[in-house]
Amino acid sequence: MDRLRNKIRDIPDFPKPGIIFKDITPLVKDPATLRLAVHQLLHPFLGRDITAVAGMEARGFIFGSLVAWELGIPFIPLRKPGKLPYDVQSVSYDLEYGSAELEVHIDAVDSNDKVLLIDDLLATGGTAKASCELVEKLGATVVACAFVVELDFLQGREKLGSYEVHSLLHY
Ligand code: 5GP
Repeated sequence: MDRLRNKIRDIPDFPKPGIIFKDITPLVKDPATLRLAVHQLLHPFLGRDITAVAGMEARGFIFGSLVAWELGIPFIPLRKPGKLPYDVQSVSYDLEYGSAELEVHIDAVDSNDKVLLIDDLLATGGTAKASCELVEKLGATVVACAFVVELDFLQGREKLGSYEVHSLLHY
């Protein structure tokens, strides 16, 4: 895991003062490390009944689509409002200041689907919790959520309650 950790760069005061942003671009820039991250992300789910991978905009698209490709199953983008061209289901959730929304195409998954959610990073858990709700609004089941990085001190795992959570790196 040191190989992964060495490719996560701390950016102080981004996007605002006092925040240390975990920058995953050095990791995705290095093919061998990216491959390692993707294989570690999907490893707990080999042999399990998963029919689709959903990824949160934007960095969840990078890891989620690679995991879906490796598993040979569909990738479902969960997008910020107004980006998807077809009919959508949506969910809104609270941020520290204000609120945010995510959308998914109404025909992306259905009640037969068992979905693995993937994002780069779990912080407070608001994005991941809303993503679970969004997938469930379409009748699908959330099997688990998987992240490259988990910021333990923000207790996102608690917010996700009984959902199964896997993270490759903890800070
Ligand atoms: P949460 O909703 O759990 O508070 O925030 C997680 C979401 O914000 C994820 O979609 C993630 O991409 C983004 N995010 C928040 N903080 C960071 C960070 O330090 N680094 C990266 N790469 N993403 C972050």
